[in-house]
Amino acid sequence: MRSPCVAVVCMATWLAGCATPEYAIRQVPVPEESPSALQIERTISAYQAGQFQRQGARSIGPSERLAGFEVQPLVNRLSRVTERPSLRYRAYLLHDDDPNAAALADGRIYLTTGLLNYLARRGGQADELASVISHELAHTVAQHLVKRYRMLQQQELLMALVAAGAAVASRDAGAPMQRASRLAVNVASLLQDVANSGYSQEQELEADQLGIQYMIRAGFRPEATLELLQDFSRFEQPWPLLRTHPYSTRRQEDLQRYLTDIGYWERTQPRPQQSPSTSAQQRLTHLREIQRLYPSGSVSWQNLQRQIEALIK
Ligand SMILES: [Zn+2]
Repeated sequence: MRSPCVAVVCMATWLAGCATPEYAIRQVPVPEESPSALQIERTISAYQAGQFQRQGARSIGPSERLAGFEVQPLVNRLSRVTERPSLRYRAYLLHDDDPNAAALADGRIYLTTGLLNYLARRGGQADELASVISHELAHTVAQHLVKRYRMLQQQELLMALVAAGAAVASRDAGAPMQRASRLAVNVASLLQDVANSGYSQEQELEADQLGIQYMIRAGFRPEATLELLQDFSRFEQPWPLLRTHPYSTRRQEDLQRYLTDIGYWERTQPRPQQSPSTSAQQRLTHLREIQRLYPSGSVSWQNLQRQIEALIK
């Protein structure tokens, strides 16, 4: 069984040997709605939507319940709190046993029956479905496919310039025409490459962080993302590299750190039925767990140490 959503893609990018991104608090995305960005989004989305349609995908009704979930109202609630609420975010269902989800650049979100059944088996918590949807929305809002297209386009341009330089050096008169026709073919294949390729690790981590922000803003429990990632880790392939450093673990660590840095844990009130000593003990255990994620003596480590010492006194 493959892990849901992006973990499959993440694994591919991991194995491709990309540098591991550093933990950072990412900037708030500022959506670009220039004609060229919109054109790229429309073209890639039309290509991807065609593929999903051929696989039998259908739209989910505005109040349709699937595996106990009200999918479209959940998409609406989350999309309203993103930096790009103007897009029309529509949910689609794809019959596939693999738990998976995908977002298109134009606001379409595809969920598999495998994903909904998997979440239903875990208790049918709306927070968990919100976690998957918010991550997918983040890819769309942050325009990851547009950025990927532009990056590949620059690489192509660079290669064309190198080839042009070589042609001038060899005084090949026919080369410019051949190059022009090759570039025209490249634009079409470039769009397909972007549509078929996954996201970079950096984009996945950014989508995690943005997604968790959307969950908090929309009133969902961000802890649901950590619980899901914990469960995803058992799906990952026993590849040697992944065995020593599973991708889900990295994603969990980054999100734990992020929730610490934004003061989420401090804001979370202890449950009323717990005695003060029990909740303090739980908080102490939790702070110590988080502290282990930071290098000893670092600023965050010291902040947490102060909180731990205050609890012990
Ligand atoms: Zn993703």
